[in-house]
Amino acid sequence: MKAVVFHEHGGPEKLVYQDVPTPLPGEDEVLIRVKACSINHVDIWVRQGIPAYKTVFPHISGCDVAGMVEAVGKNVAGINRGEKVFVAPGLSCFRCAYCLSGQDNMCIAYKILGAHTNGGYAEYVTVPAINVLTMPNTLRFEDAASFPLAFLTAWHMLITRAELKAGQEVLVLAAGSGIGTAAIQIAKLAGAWVIAAAGRDDKLERAKALGADEVINYRREDFSNKIREFTGGKGVDVVFEHVGPETWEKSLTSLAKNGKLVTCGATSGPEAKTDLRYIFSRQLSILGSMMGTRSDLLEVTKLMEIGKLKPVIDSVFPLNEARKAQERMLERNNFGKLILVPS
Ligand SMILES: [Zn+2]
Repeated sequence: MKAVVFHEHGGPEKLVYQDVPTPLPGEDEVLIRVKACSINHVDIWVRQGIPAYKTVFPHISGCDVAGMVEAVGKNVAGINRGEKVFVAPGLSCFRCAYCLSGQDNMCIAYKILGAHTNGGYAEYVTVPAINVLTMPNTLRFEDAASFPLAFLTAWHMLITRAELKAGQEVLVLAAGSGIGTAAIQIAKLAGAWVIAAAGRDDKLERAKALGADEVINYRREDFSNKIREFTGGKGVDVVFEHVGPETWEKSLTSLAKNGKLVTCGATSGPEAKTDLRYIFSRQLSILGSMMGTRSDLLEVTKLMEIGKLKPVIDSVFPLNEARKAQERMLERNNFGKLILVPS
């Protein structure tokens, strides 16, 4: 089959479109013919190489897959060839104490499809049968591949971790990213008042169209001051962080007393400065979040199916242009998700 692989860590130029052996499904696995796979920031981290992921070369990235069932392993029941499916990107054992308490994103053996294993930048991918979900028939393959990781992560951050309530004020940073566009919609659906921040006016226009109540261009304005202005000096109840050092200090000073900063990433670097006096005197909470639970994914899928949440797709690239698609993300030119489609 054709796949996009990298044979060593490095920049986007390490991505190579080439022939590799088509994988065979193990006895509890399903072989999926990939129709669409979206790009996530974790693909870039894994390509660059980070200690948390022990990469086996050549590696195939891609966490978010939608496609057709091509074959199933001998223990798999209830999933049939030709079915339209999408994939839950978190691989959990569903046997450990975390999994059995519904916190399967804290599984002791947790893995992410395409990060710890080979993923969907390919014509075919094998996944555990337990990760295969029926595709809602209101969605296209591109839609079904666009939302799982981004919406799952944003849902877990805002609803599960930060316990966002109707009437609360939330600041969504990097509003044009995949998870930013998910967060705006989820926060609005929860009844929150949403301030979206991004570095370009055209992205802010689109954030407004998605439901943001106010917008801030943080290339032009100090977003922390602007938040004080919008909230009458109070600050926001929740900051949706995933940028890191570039925004961290201002994210903290944007919070109201008792406010919560929830973070799932650090696209601008791993270390940030924290003024501890803000944390204790304003009684702030800093919440870490990673991926989301299967239950979060099912809730998000239902809302996607009935149109309460909508996929936001920036552009669709043929699989052999994966490098171009990743570069578009690195240059922050996208609004919403980038999708790869095998020819
Ligand atoms: Zn587990």
